[in-house]
Amino acid sequence: MMQDLTDLILSRIRDVADYPKPGIVFKDITPLLGDHEVFSAVVEALADGLRVDKIVGIEARGFILAAPVALRAGAGFVPVRKKGKLPAATLETSYDLEYGSAVIEVHADAFAPGDRVLIVDDVLATGGTAEATVELVGRAGAEVVGVSVLMELAFLKGRERLGQTGLRALVVV
Ligand code: AMP
Repeated sequence: MMQDLTDLILSRIRDVADYPKPGIVFKDITPLLGDHEVFSAVVEALADGLRVDKIVGIEARGFILAAPVALRAGAGFVPVRKKGKLPAATLETSYDLEYGSAVIEVHADAFAPGDRVLIVDDVLATGGTAEATVELVGRAGAEVVGVSVLMELAFLKGRERLGQTGLRALVVV
């Protein structure tokens, strides 16, 4: 069953070479999202056995996966967004990119103290975005129980940056 799901996922993720810049192979999940059977199976797998209060989605493709997982798991959904997009009072953190840095934010009142939270994104690459999100959500008063992604790019060793925080990837390439 799991091997079937792995094959299904891999068959619906398209490699786009040199996007958004030369040397990057972009993992395009839009074919997967357009296939009801595979999208449903992915949401089921990500929600399987979850006992959490909130699911955090990382802008932007993380939102698409995290929201249905939250509904399936009986949890709330919380967006973590790039700076300047959330309307109310926020907490923020910055992290390094290959060139320069990025700032992400979450609403300061998004979590009740001690909320159990799963973070969801589409692709784990260097792990910088997930690592920053773990730190931000922890500072906002929640307990991060793990990070789940559709696909882990193992050669970039992002898993190592997550330390004690458990990472679950439906497929590893
Ligand atoms: P990183 O912080 O390096 O782990 O990058 C993770 C974020 O960038 C995720 O939100 C991904 O959606 C996106 N990302 C990074 N590399 C890729 C890739 N090769 N294909 C698709 N998305 C990527």
